[in-house]
Amino acid sequence: MPKVELHCHLELAIRQSTLREFAGISGLNLSTNEAFSEAFLIQEPMGELKSVLHKFLNTRNVIKQEDWMERVAFEACEDMYLLSNVRILELRYAPSFLLDHHHHMKADRLQEAILRGVQRAEQLYPIAVGLICILQRTKSVEENKKWVDFALQPENQFIGLDLADNEVDFDPEPFVPLFHKAKNQGLGITVHAGEPNVPGISRNIRTAIEQMGADRIGHGLQAVEDPDVMSLLRKRKIPLELCPTSNVLTGACNSIGTHPFKSLLDAGVQVTINTDDPGIMCTSLIKEYHLLSKAFGIDLKSFENCNAWALDASFITSTKKKSIWNKRFESKPS
Ligand SMILES: [Zn+2]
Repeated sequence: MPKVELHCHLELAIRQSTLREFAGISGLNLSTNEAFSEAFLIQEPMGELKSVLHKFLNTRNVIKQEDWMERVAFEACEDMYLLSNVRILELRYAPSFLLDHHHHMKADRLQEAILRGVQRAEQLYPIAVGLICILQRTKSVEENKKWVDFALQPENQFIGLDLADNEVDFDPEPFVPLFHKAKNQGLGITVHAGEPNVPGISRNIRTAIEQMGADRIGHGLQAVEDPDVMSLLRKRKIPLELCPTSNVLTGACNSIGTHPFKSLLDAGVQVTINTDDPGIMCTSLIKEYHLLSKAFGIDLKSFENCNAWALDASFITSTKKKSIWNKRFESKPS
């Protein structure tokens, strides 16, 4: 089945063999598989999102050259197509996060490298790829202003803006004007909201929709706690970008069996299926489909609906989407 992936963090989609190579160049002693897993991979629930976010830093820290992101981007697209038959792909990253640890790196060169990787993949495979710029809620409004301007520069070719990181301790409200500016200038808006298992957190979904102009919600699985939030999602036809494996590993839900995917689907909320961090969390989009099929008996028709919602909600231009999606029945190279 041809698929749409909307929620994937570029640097955390890094191919594991590539990550190992980068870590080796950094001089990390990773002679055993255990040492590599311990340093980079998240394979068991980690209790809370904050500790997971901390583990992401290790991957970020070994990406030491702008040019290396060309390879990361190309391989992320290639893996999406070859492993899961993804035809419409949105990748997201926070320039502030990647650059924080590497003061010699520059945002323009980073973006150019990523675009080269994406374009190479688009030439080789029938896949349409778009990039989303992430703002970190842990950074000041002042600093994020700079990144919104970066996201709006036409040569950088971003299609959307996102807000990510710890939503328990950092409220979204201060960033509202930045999202208005981005939306007014044509960027699609998606916001990480209602992700961790913290009572009352679904209020961030409401803020994202009513104040920030969100077209989609990153995760948003805690919408199940509030019927009013679910009805808002239904009424506005705002899709949730659900990431089942990630939601279990970050402790957003206790197990795949208690994931609210099916409840949300049955309640008429538009749910989409995504990987979040496939490299680091050892998953792929096809694995997420298998997981949901096994846990809830989701059938082909429902999966097709999820893809139709995702296709419609993708920020990639409709001309580009159509040209690729209409070719979707061409067979995939084995
Ligand atoms: Zn995410």
